[in-house]
Amino acid sequence: MSETIRVSASAETSTSSARLSESYAPTPEIASLWDGVHESLRLEFGEAAFRSWLKPLVLQAYYHGTLEVSVPTRFMRDWIHNHYAARILEICVAANPDIRRLEIVVVQNAIPSEEPTPAIRERAAKANQNHDDAALLELSSPLDPRFTFETFVVGKPNALAHAAARRVVESAAVPFNPLFLYGGVGLGKTHLMHAIAWAMRAHWPEKRVMVLSAEKFMYQFVRALRAKDTFSFKEMFRSVDVLLMDDIQFISGKESTQEEFFHTFNALVDQNKQIIISSDRQPSDLAGIEDRLRSRLSWGLVADIQPSSYDLRLGILKARRTQLGVHVPDSVLEFLALKVTSNIRELEGALTRIVAHADVVSTPVTLETTQDVLQDLLRAHDRRITIDEIQRKVAEHYNLRVSDMHSARRARNVARPRQVAMFLSKQLTARSLPEIGRKFGGRDHTTVMHAVRKIEELLETDVQIAQDVDIVRRALTG
Ligand code: ADP
Ligand code: MG
Repeated sequence: MSETIRVSASAETSTSSARLSESYAPTPEIASLWDGVHESLRLEFGEAAFRSWLKPLVLQAYYHGTLEVSVPTRFMRDWIHNHYAARILEICVAANPDIRRLEIVVVQNAIPSEEPTPAIRERAAKANQNHDDAALLELSSPLDPRFTFETFVVGKPNALAHAAARRVVESAAVPFNPLFLYGGVGLGKTHLMHAIAWAMRAHWPEKRVMVLSAEKFMYQFVRALRAKDTFSFKEMFRSVDVLLMDDIQFISGKESTQEEFFHTFNALVDQNKQIIISSDRQPSDLAGIEDRLRSRLSWGLVADIQPSSYDLRLGILKARRTQLGVHVPDSVLEFLALKVTSNIRELEGALTRIVAHADVVSTPVTLETTQDVLQDLLRAHDRRITIDEIQRKVAEHYNLRVSDMHSARRARNVARPRQVAMFLSKQLTARSLPEIGRKFGGRDHTTVMHAVRKIEELLETDVQIAQDVDIVRRALTG
Protein backbone atom coordinates (compact mmCIF):
# COMPACT_ATOMS: atom_id res chain seq x y z
CA MET A 1 0.00 0.00 0.00
CA SER A 2 1.13 3.46 -0.70
CA GLU A 3 1.37 6.13 1.89
CA THR A 4 -0.22 8.65 -0.36
CA ILE A 5 -3.89 8.93 -1.13
CA ARG A 6 -5.08 10.78 -4.16
CA VAL A 7 -8.51 12.18 -4.49
CA SER A 8 -9.34 13.11 -8.02
CA ALA A 9 -12.04 15.51 -9.06
CA SER A 10 -12.14 14.00 -12.51
CA ALA A 11 -10.80 10.94 -14.23
CA GLU A 12 -8.49 13.17 -16.16
CA THR A 13 -4.91 12.09 -16.58
CA SER A 14 -2.73 14.83 -17.81
CA THR A 15 0.01 13.99 -20.26
CA SER A 16 0.79 17.44 -21.46
CA SER A 17 4.40 18.08 -22.18
CA ALA A 18 4.26 21.39 -20.39
CA ARG A 19 7.54 22.54 -18.94
CA LEU A 20 7.72 22.30 -15.23
CA SER A 21 8.91 24.93 -12.98
CA GLU A 22 11.51 23.57 -10.62
CA SER A 23 9.68 24.90 -7.63
CA TYR A 24 6.53 23.41 -6.19
CA ALA A 25 6.24 25.62 -3.18
CA PRO A 26 2.69 26.91 -2.96
CA THR A 27 2.37 30.44 -4.31
CA PRO A 28 0.98 33.12 -1.98
CA GLU A 29 -2.34 32.83 -3.85
CA ILE A 30 -2.59 29.10 -3.20
CA ALA A 31 -1.53 29.58 0.41
CA SER A 32 -4.26 32.11 0.97
CA LEU A 33 -6.77 29.95 -0.89
CA TRP A 34 -5.90 27.16 1.49
CA ASP A 35 -6.42 29.44 4.49
CA GLY A 36 -9.87 30.24 3.15
CA VAL A 37 -10.66 26.56 2.61
CA HIS A 38 -9.52 25.79 6.12
CA GLU A 39 -11.85 28.46 7.46
CA SER A 40 -14.80 27.11 5.46
CA LEU A 41 -14.16 23.69 6.89
CA ARG A 42 -14.27 25.07 10.41
CA LEU A 43 -17.65 26.67 9.71
CA GLU A 44 -19.04 23.64 7.95
CA PHE A 45 -17.97 20.89 10.32
CA GLY A 46 -17.92 22.74 13.63
CA GLU A 47 -15.17 23.46 16.12
CA ALA A 48 -14.83 19.96 17.58
CA ALA A 49 -14.41 18.07 14.33
CA PHE A 50 -12.23 20.83 13.01
CA ARG A 51 -9.85 20.66 15.94
CA SER A 52 -9.55 16.88 15.82
CA TRP A 53 -9.24 16.30 12.14
CA LEU A 54 -9.00 19.32 9.94
CA LYS A 55 -6.82 21.76 11.80
CA PRO A 56 -3.77 19.48 11.54
CA LEU A 57 -3.90 19.52 7.74
CA VAL A 58 -0.89 21.40 6.44
CA LEU A 59 -0.49 22.69 2.93
CA GLN A 60 2.72 21.26 1.51
CA ALA A 61 2.83 21.88 -2.19
CA TYR A 62 0.95 22.73 -5.31
CA TYR A 63 1.85 21.44 -8.76
CA HIS A 64 -0.08 20.83 -11.95
CA GLY A 65 -3.49 21.05 -10.40
CA THR A 66 -2.53 18.85 -7.46
CA LEU A 67 -2.83 20.26 -4.02
CA GLU A 68 -0.72 18.34 -1.57
CA VAL A 69 -1.59 18.47 2.10
CA SER A 70 -0.06 16.53 4.93
CA VAL A 71 -1.28 14.92 8.12
CA PRO A 72 0.83 13.51 10.94
CA THR A 73 -0.38 9.90 10.95
CA ARG A 74 -1.64 7.24 8.59
CA PHE A 75 -4.74 6.80 10.66
CA MET A 76 -5.63 10.44 10.26
CA ARG A 77 -4.92 10.30 6.60
CA ASP A 78 -7.32 7.38 6.11
CA TRP A 79 -9.96 8.98 8.27
CA ILE A 80 -9.80 12.24 6.38
CA HIS A 81 -9.81 10.42 3.11
CA ASN A 82 -12.98 8.57 4.02
CA HIS A 83 -14.85 11.38 5.71
CA TYR A 84 -13.68 14.72 4.45
CA ALA A 85 -11.52 14.51 1.34
CA ALA A 86 -14.28 14.71 -1.25
CA ARG A 87 -15.73 17.78 0.40
CA ILE A 88 -12.34 19.43 0.82
CA LEU A 89 -11.63 18.96 -2.84
CA GLU A 90 -15.03 20.36 -3.74
CA ILE A 91 -14.37 23.52 -1.76
CA CYS A 92 -10.92 23.87 -3.31
CA VAL A 93 -12.27 23.46 -6.84
CA ALA A 94 -14.96 26.02 -6.18
CA ALA A 95 -12.25 28.46 -5.12
CA ASN A 96 -9.95 27.62 -8.02
CA PRO A 97 -11.11 25.42 -10.88
CA ASP A 98 -7.51 24.66 -11.85
CA ILE A 99 -7.28 22.37 -8.86
CA ARG A 100 -8.05 18.83 -9.93
CA ARG A 101 -6.54 16.60 -7.30
CA LEU A 102 -5.97 16.50 -3.62
CA GLU A 103 -3.09 14.45 -2.37
CA ILE A 104 -2.91 13.60 1.30
CA VAL A 105 0.53 12.62 2.49
CA VAL A 106 1.76 11.53 5.87
CA VAL A 107 4.45 13.75 7.30
CA GLN A 108 5.36 13.27 10.91
CA ASN A 109 5.67 16.50 12.82
CA ALA A 110 4.26 18.34 9.89
CA ILE A 111 4.86 22.02 9.97
CA PRO A 112 3.78 24.65 7.54
CA SER A 113 6.28 25.14 4.73
CA GLU A 114 6.52 28.86 5.50
CA GLU A 115 8.13 28.08 8.84
CA PRO A 116 11.84 28.81 9.30
CA THR A 117 14.28 26.53 7.56
CA PRO A 118 15.91 24.88 10.61
CA ALA A 119 12.61 23.27 11.55
CA ILE A 120 12.11 21.95 8.06
CA ARG A 121 15.62 20.63 8.04
CA GLU A 122 15.03 18.83 11.28
CA ARG A 123 11.84 17.27 10.05
CA ALA A 124 13.35 16.15 6.78
CA ALA A 125 16.34 14.72 8.56
CA LYS A 126 14.08 12.82 10.91
CA ALA A 127 11.87 11.52 8.12
CA ASN A 128 14.79 10.33 6.08
CA GLN A 129 17.04 9.17 8.87
CA ASN A 130 16.71 5.54 8.04
CA HIS A 131 15.50 4.85 4.59
CA ASP A 132 13.02 2.24 5.65
CA ASP A 133 10.34 0.84 3.41
CA ALA A 134 7.67 3.21 4.61
CA ALA A 135 9.74 6.15 3.50
CA LEU A 136 10.48 4.42 0.24
CA LEU A 137 6.81 3.89 -0.39
CA GLU A 138 6.15 7.50 0.43
CA LEU A 139 8.37 8.52 -2.46
CA SER A 140 7.18 5.84 -4.81
CA SER A 141 4.07 6.47 -6.89
CA PRO A 142 1.04 4.30 -6.15
CA LEU A 143 0.74 1.46 -8.65
CA ASP A 144 -2.38 1.46 -10.75
CA PRO A 145 -4.19 -1.83 -10.13
CA ARG A 146 -5.38 -1.92 -13.73
CA PHE A 147 -1.87 -1.80 -15.15
CA THR A 148 -0.60 -5.38 -14.98
CA PHE A 149 0.85 -7.86 -17.45
CA GLU A 150 -2.45 -9.73 -17.37
CA THR A 151 -4.33 -6.76 -18.77
CA PHE A 152 -1.64 -5.78 -21.26
CA VAL A 153 -2.58 -6.94 -24.74
CA VAL A 154 0.44 -7.87 -26.81
CA GLY A 155 0.63 -7.21 -30.54
CA LYS A 156 3.26 -6.53 -33.12
CA PRO A 157 3.70 -2.83 -32.24
CA ASN A 158 4.52 -3.51 -28.59
CA ALA A 159 5.95 -7.04 -28.77
CA LEU A 160 9.56 -5.99 -28.28
CA ALA A 161 8.84 -3.69 -25.35
CA HIS A 162 6.68 -6.34 -23.74
CA ALA A 163 9.27 -9.10 -24.19
CA ALA A 164 11.98 -6.88 -22.75
CA ALA A 165 9.78 -5.99 -19.79
CA ARG A 166 9.16 -9.66 -19.06
CA ARG A 167 12.85 -10.45 -19.32
CA VAL A 168 13.64 -7.82 -16.73
CA VAL A 169 11.16 -9.40 -14.34
CA GLU A 170 12.11 -12.99 -14.96
CA SER A 171 15.88 -12.78 -15.05
CA ALA A 172 17.71 -13.35 -11.83
CA ALA A 173 20.59 -11.19 -13.09
CA VAL A 174 20.14 -7.78 -14.65
CA PRO A 175 19.68 -8.55 -18.37
CA PHE A 176 20.25 -5.05 -19.70
CA ASN A 177 20.73 -1.74 -18.01
CA PRO A 178 18.88 0.43 -18.43
CA LEU A 179 15.82 -0.84 -20.20
CA PHE A 180 14.70 2.22 -22.10
CA LEU A 181 11.10 2.14 -23.34
CA TYR A 182 9.85 4.83 -25.62
CA GLY A 183 6.70 5.59 -27.60
CA GLY A 184 4.04 8.20 -28.25
CA VAL A 185 1.39 9.41 -25.84
CA GLY A 186 -1.17 6.86 -24.67
CA LEU A 187 0.52 3.80 -26.15
CA GLY A 188 1.09 1.92 -22.90
CA LYS A 189 4.41 3.04 -21.44
CA THR A 190 3.10 3.71 -17.96
CA HIS A 191 1.03 0.54 -18.13
CA LEU A 192 4.16 -1.52 -18.85
CA MET A 193 6.17 0.22 -16.14
CA HIS A 194 3.54 -0.55 -13.53
CA ALA A 195 3.22 -4.11 -14.83
CA ILE A 196 6.94 -4.59 -14.28
CA ALA A 197 6.66 -3.19 -10.77
CA TRP A 198 3.69 -5.41 -9.85
CA ALA A 199 5.42 -8.50 -11.20
CA MET A 200 8.70 -7.59 -9.48
CA ARG A 201 6.91 -7.34 -6.18
CA ALA A 202 5.36 -10.75 -6.73
CA HIS A 203 8.50 -12.53 -8.00
CA TRP A 204 11.07 -10.85 -5.84
CA PRO A 205 9.36 -9.66 -2.67
CA GLU A 206 12.70 -8.89 -1.04
CA LYS A 207 13.65 -6.38 -3.69
CA ARG A 208 13.03 -2.73 -3.09
CA VAL A 209 11.16 -1.46 -6.09
CA MET A 210 10.59 2.19 -6.70
CA VAL A 211 8.40 3.67 -9.40
CA LEU A 212 8.16 7.34 -9.98
CA SER A 213 7.83 9.88 -12.71
CA ALA A 214 10.74 12.10 -13.58
CA GLU A 215 8.45 14.91 -12.53
CA LYS A 216 8.14 13.51 -9.05
CA PHE A 217 11.86 12.83 -8.85
CA MET A 218 12.44 16.48 -9.60
CA TYR A 219 9.88 17.54 -7.05
CA GLN A 220 11.45 15.40 -4.35
CA PHE A 221 14.88 16.66 -5.26
CA VAL A 222 13.82 20.29 -5.10
CA ARG A 223 12.16 19.62 -1.79
CA ALA A 224 15.35 18.10 -0.43
CA LEU A 225 17.33 21.08 -1.69
CA ARG A 226 14.94 23.42 0.04
CA ALA A 227 15.30 21.50 3.24
CA LYS A 228 19.07 21.54 2.69
CA ASP A 229 19.03 17.83 3.08
CA THR A 230 20.07 16.17 -0.13
CA PHE A 231 22.08 13.58 1.74
CA SER A 232 19.12 11.45 2.80
CA PHE A 233 17.58 11.98 -0.59
CA LYS A 234 20.63 10.49 -2.27
CA GLU A 235 20.78 7.66 0.22
CA MET A 236 17.16 6.84 -0.38
CA PHE A 237 17.49 6.54 -4.13
CA ARG A 238 20.70 4.62 -3.94
CA SER A 239 19.20 2.00 -1.69
CA VAL A 240 16.63 0.71 -4.18
CA ASP A 241 17.09 -2.50 -6.15
CA VAL A 242 14.86 -1.59 -9.05
CA LEU A 243 14.22 1.96 -10.13
CA LEU A 244 11.51 2.69 -12.66
CA MET A 245 11.43 6.24 -13.88
CA ASP A 246 8.53 7.27 -16.06
CA ASP A 247 8.56 10.12 -18.59
CA ILE A 248 12.24 11.02 -18.41
CA GLN A 249 11.70 13.74 -21.03
CA PHE A 250 10.38 15.92 -18.20
CA ILE A 251 13.86 16.65 -16.98
CA SER A 252 14.88 18.19 -20.29
CA GLY A 253 16.47 21.53 -19.59
CA LYS A 254 16.50 20.98 -15.82
CA GLU A 255 20.20 20.97 -15.28
CA SER A 256 20.50 20.40 -11.57
CA THR A 257 17.89 17.65 -11.62
CA GLN A 258 19.69 15.96 -14.49
CA GLU A 259 22.97 16.18 -12.68
CA GLU A 260 21.41 14.52 -9.66
CA PHE A 261 19.74 11.86 -11.74
CA PHE A 262 22.98 11.15 -13.58
CA HIS A 263 24.75 10.42 -10.32
CA THR A 264 21.90 8.30 -9.02
CA PHE A 265 21.86 6.41 -12.30
CA ASN A 266 25.57 5.71 -12.20
CA ALA A 267 25.52 4.67 -8.57
CA LEU A 268 22.75 2.15 -9.26
CA VAL A 269 24.33 0.77 -12.42
CA ASP A 270 27.61 0.36 -10.55
CA GLN A 271 25.82 -1.73 -7.95
CA ASN A 272 24.20 -3.75 -10.71
CA LYS A 273 20.71 -2.54 -9.84
CA GLN A 274 18.05 -2.60 -12.54
CA ILE A 275 16.90 0.69 -14.03
CA ILE A 276 13.91 1.04 -16.33
CA ILE A 277 13.17 4.30 -18.02
CA SER A 278 10.32 5.48 -20.20
CA SER A 279 10.20 8.40 -22.55
CA ASP A 280 8.15 9.82 -25.34
CA ARG A 281 11.15 9.67 -27.68
CA GLN A 282 14.39 7.77 -28.10
CA PRO A 283 17.52 8.84 -26.24
CA SER A 284 19.17 10.46 -29.25
CA ASP A 285 16.12 12.70 -29.74
CA LEU A 286 16.00 13.95 -26.17
CA ALA A 287 16.81 17.61 -26.59
CA GLY A 288 17.87 19.51 -23.50
CA ILE A 289 19.51 16.47 -21.93
CA GLU A 290 23.23 16.50 -21.46
CA ASP A 291 25.25 14.39 -23.88
CA ARG A 292 26.82 12.17 -21.25
CA LEU A 293 23.44 11.30 -19.75
CA ARG A 294 21.89 10.78 -23.15
CA SER A 295 24.59 8.38 -24.15
CA ARG A 296 24.32 6.43 -20.90
CA LEU A 297 20.58 6.09 -21.41
CA SER A 298 21.16 4.08 -24.57
CA TRP A 299 23.69 1.70 -23.09
CA GLY A 300 21.21 -1.04 -22.34
CA LEU A 301 18.26 -2.06 -24.43
CA VAL A 302 16.23 0.61 -26.20
CA ALA A 303 12.79 -0.74 -27.09
CA ASP A 304 10.07 1.19 -28.82
CA ILE A 305 6.31 0.94 -28.68
CA GLN A 306 5.06 1.70 -32.14
CA PRO A 307 1.73 3.25 -33.02
CA SER A 308 -0.96 0.64 -32.61
CA SER A 309 -2.21 -1.55 -35.44
CA TYR A 310 -5.82 -2.38 -36.26
CA ASP A 311 -5.40 -5.87 -34.80
CA LEU A 312 -3.93 -4.61 -31.56
CA ARG A 313 -6.65 -2.02 -31.14
CA LEU A 314 -9.32 -4.62 -31.73
CA GLY A 315 -7.62 -6.99 -29.30
CA ILE A 316 -7.53 -4.31 -26.62
CA LEU A 317 -11.19 -3.43 -27.16
CA LYS A 318 -12.23 -7.07 -26.89
CA ALA A 319 -10.25 -7.45 -23.69
CA ARG A 320 -11.86 -4.29 -22.29
CA ARG A 321 -15.31 -5.54 -23.21
CA THR A 322 -14.67 -8.70 -21.22
CA GLN A 323 -13.29 -6.75 -18.27
CA LEU A 324 -16.27 -4.43 -18.25
CA GLY A 325 -18.68 -7.32 -18.73
CA VAL A 326 -20.77 -5.38 -21.20
CA HIS A 327 -22.47 -6.40 -24.39
CA VAL A 328 -21.04 -4.56 -27.35
CA PRO A 329 -21.29 -6.15 -30.80
CA ASP A 330 -18.06 -7.00 -32.62
CA SER A 331 -19.07 -4.72 -35.46
CA VAL A 332 -18.93 -1.75 -33.08
CA LEU A 333 -15.51 -2.72 -31.75
CA GLU A 334 -14.24 -3.16 -35.29
CA PHE A 335 -15.62 0.21 -36.16
CA LEU A 336 -13.84 1.83 -33.22
CA ALA A 337 -10.59 0.02 -33.99
CA LEU A 338 -10.76 1.41 -37.50
CA LYS A 339 -11.70 4.93 -36.62
CA VAL A 340 -9.94 5.78 -33.40
CA THR A 341 -6.34 5.32 -34.33
CA SER A 342 -4.58 8.08 -32.43
CA ASN A 343 -3.83 6.27 -29.20
CA ILE A 344 -5.10 3.63 -26.82
CA ARG A 345 -6.27 6.06 -24.20
CA GLU A 346 -8.60 7.71 -26.67
CA LEU A 347 -9.75 4.34 -27.92
CA GLU A 348 -10.67 3.19 -24.42
CA GLY A 349 -12.31 6.55 -23.80
CA ALA A 350 -14.50 6.07 -26.86
CA LEU A 351 -15.62 2.63 -25.67
CA THR A 352 -16.35 3.97 -22.20
CA ARG A 353 -18.41 6.76 -23.68
CA ILE A 354 -20.66 4.55 -25.76
CA VAL A 355 -21.14 2.08 -22.94
CA ALA A 356 -22.02 4.89 -20.53
CA HIS A 357 -24.41 6.39 -23.04
CA ALA A 358 -26.17 3.07 -23.64
CA ASP A 359 -26.47 2.65 -19.90
CA VAL A 360 -27.96 6.08 -19.33
CA VAL A 361 -30.54 5.87 -22.10
CA SER A 362 -31.10 2.13 -21.60
CA THR A 363 -30.61 1.10 -25.19
CA PRO A 364 -28.29 -1.53 -26.58
CA VAL A 365 -25.04 -0.44 -28.20
CA THR A 366 -25.28 -0.50 -31.98
CA LEU A 367 -23.28 0.89 -34.83
CA GLU A 368 -25.79 3.68 -35.19
CA THR A 369 -25.83 4.79 -31.58
CA THR A 370 -22.05 4.62 -31.61
CA GLN A 371 -21.76 6.91 -34.58
CA ASP A 372 -24.21 9.26 -32.98
CA VAL A 373 -22.47 9.44 -29.65
CA LEU A 374 -19.01 9.78 -31.10
CA GLN A 375 -19.86 12.23 -33.85
CA ASP A 376 -17.35 14.88 -32.82
CA LEU A 377 -14.56 12.40 -32.28
CA LEU A 378 -15.20 10.62 -35.57
CA ARG A 379 -15.15 13.72 -37.67
CA ALA A 380 -11.56 14.24 -36.65
CA HIS A 381 -10.64 10.68 -37.57
CA ASP A 382 -12.60 10.34 -40.79
CA ARG A 383 -10.53 8.56 -43.40
CA ARG A 384 -12.75 9.39 -46.35
CA ILE A 385 -13.52 6.09 -47.95
CA THR A 386 -16.18 6.50 -50.64
CA ILE A 387 -19.25 4.39 -51.30
CA ASP A 388 -18.06 3.86 -54.88
CA GLU A 389 -14.84 2.31 -53.59
CA ILE A 390 -16.77 0.07 -51.25
CA GLN A 391 -19.05 -1.11 -54.05
CA ARG A 392 -16.06 -1.84 -56.28
CA LYS A 393 -14.25 -3.86 -53.62
CA VAL A 394 -17.31 -5.82 -52.58
CA ALA A 395 -18.15 -6.64 -56.20
CA GLU A 396 -14.57 -7.71 -56.79
CA HIS A 397 -14.56 -9.92 -53.73
CA TYR A 398 -17.76 -11.72 -54.67
CA ASN A 399 -17.01 -11.83 -58.38
CA LEU A 400 -19.94 -9.62 -59.28
CA ARG A 401 -20.30 -6.59 -61.52
CA VAL A 402 -20.43 -3.18 -59.89
CA SER A 403 -23.79 -2.68 -61.56
CA ASP A 404 -25.13 -5.51 -59.38
CA MET A 405 -24.81 -3.12 -56.47
CA HIS A 406 -27.38 -0.81 -58.02
CA SER A 407 -29.60 -3.36 -59.72
CA ALA A 408 -32.95 -4.60 -58.53
CA ARG A 409 -31.89 -8.27 -58.64
CA ARG A 410 -32.89 -10.03 -55.47
CA ALA A 411 -31.17 -13.39 -55.85
CA ARG A 412 -29.36 -14.26 -52.62
CA ASN A 413 -25.91 -14.39 -54.26
CA VAL A 414 -26.33 -10.75 -55.26
CA ALA A 415 -28.53 -9.44 -52.47
CA ARG A 416 -26.27 -10.55 -49.65
CA PRO A 417 -23.11 -8.94 -51.04
CA ARG A 418 -25.14 -5.80 -51.66
CA GLN A 419 -26.12 -5.81 -47.99
CA VAL A 420 -22.49 -6.22 -47.06
CA ALA A 421 -21.66 -3.18 -49.15
CA MET A 422 -24.42 -1.16 -47.48
CA PHE A 423 -23.21 -2.24 -44.08
CA LEU A 424 -19.65 -1.22 -44.89
CA SER A 425 -20.88 2.09 -46.28
CA LYS A 426 -22.53 2.78 -42.97
CA GLN A 427 -19.51 1.62 -41.03
CA LEU A 428 -16.79 3.30 -43.03
CA THR A 429 -18.30 6.54 -44.26
CA ALA A 430 -20.17 9.39 -42.66
CA ARG A 431 -23.05 9.08 -45.14
CA SER A 432 -26.60 8.97 -43.83
CA LEU A 433 -28.93 6.07 -44.51
CA PRO A 434 -30.92 7.93 -47.24
CA GLU A 435 -27.68 8.98 -48.93
CA ILE A 436 -26.47 5.40 -48.92
CA GLY A 437 -29.83 4.24 -50.27
CA ARG A 438 -29.55 6.62 -53.19
CA LYS A 439 -26.12 5.25 -54.08
CA PHE A 440 -27.54 1.73 -54.20
CA GLY A 441 -29.96 2.26 -57.07
CA GLY A 442 -32.25 4.64 -55.24
CA ARG A 443 -33.26 2.32 -52.41
CA ASP A 444 -35.20 3.47 -49.39
CA HIS A 445 -33.36 4.27 -46.14
CA THR A 446 -35.30 1.53 -44.35
CA THR A 447 -33.83 -0.99 -46.77
CA VAL A 448 -30.35 0.19 -45.85
CA MET A 449 -31.16 0.06 -42.16
CA HIS A 450 -32.46 -3.48 -42.57
CA ALA A 451 -29.27 -4.46 -44.42
CA VAL A 452 -27.04 -2.99 -41.70
CA ARG A 453 -28.93 -4.84 -38.96
CA LYS A 454 -28.96 -8.08 -40.92
CA ILE A 455 -25.20 -8.03 -41.44
CA GLU A 456 -24.56 -7.04 -37.84
CA GLU A 457 -26.57 -10.07 -36.82
CA LEU A 458 -24.83 -12.41 -39.25
CA LEU A 459 -21.42 -11.22 -38.14
CA GLU A 460 -22.06 -12.83 -34.79
CA THR A 461 -23.31 -16.13 -36.20
CA ASP A 462 -21.97 -16.65 -39.70
CA VAL A 463 -18.22 -17.20 -39.95
CA GLN A 464 -18.18 -16.91 -43.72
CA ILE A 465 -19.80 -13.47 -43.71
CA ALA A 466 -17.53 -12.32 -40.91
CA GLN A 467 -14.51 -13.37 -42.95
CA ASP A 468 -15.79 -11.71 -46.11
CA VAL A 469 -16.44 -8.43 -44.30
CA ASP A 470 -13.03 -8.56 -42.70
CA ILE A 471 -11.21 -9.13 -45.99
CA VAL A 472 -13.03 -6.36 -47.82
CA ARG A 473 -12.58 -3.95 -44.97
CA ARG A 474 -8.86 -4.59 -44.82
CA ALA A 475 -8.61 -4.05 -48.54
CA LEU A 476 -10.36 -0.72 -48.11
CA THR A 477 -8.52 0.57 -45.11
CA GLY A 478 -5.05 -0.57 -46.03
P1 ADP B 1 1.51 6.23 -21.92
O1 ADP B 1 2.12 6.13 -20.58
O2 ADP B 1 2.36 5.61 -23.00
O3 ADP B 1 1.09 7.61 -22.30
P2 ADP B 1 -0.51 4.57 -20.74
O4 ADP B 1 0.37 3.48 -20.26
O5 ADP B 1 -1.01 5.53 -19.74
O6 ADP B 1 0.19 5.37 -21.95
O7 ADP B 1 -1.73 3.92 -21.54
C1 ADP B 1 -2.93 4.61 -21.84
C2 ADP B 1 -4.12 3.70 -21.68
O8 ADP B 1 -4.10 2.69 -22.67
C3 ADP B 1 -4.12 2.98 -20.35
O9 ADP B 1 -5.43 2.88 -19.86
C4 ADP B 1 -3.58 1.60 -20.68
O10 ADP B 1 -4.08 0.61 -19.81
C5 ADP B 1 -4.09 1.40 -22.09
N1 ADP B 1 -3.20 0.54 -22.89
C6 ADP B 1 -2.15 0.93 -23.63
N2 ADP B 1 -1.57 -0.13 -24.23
C7 ADP B 1 -2.28 -1.21 -23.87
C8 ADP B 1 -2.19 -2.62 -24.16
N3 ADP B 1 -1.25 -3.10 -24.97
N4 ADP B 1 -3.11 -3.43 -23.60
C9 ADP B 1 -4.08 -2.95 -22.80
N5 ADP B 1 -4.21 -1.66 -22.47
C10 ADP B 1 -3.34 -0.79 -23.00
MG1 MG C 1 2.53 7.59 -19.18
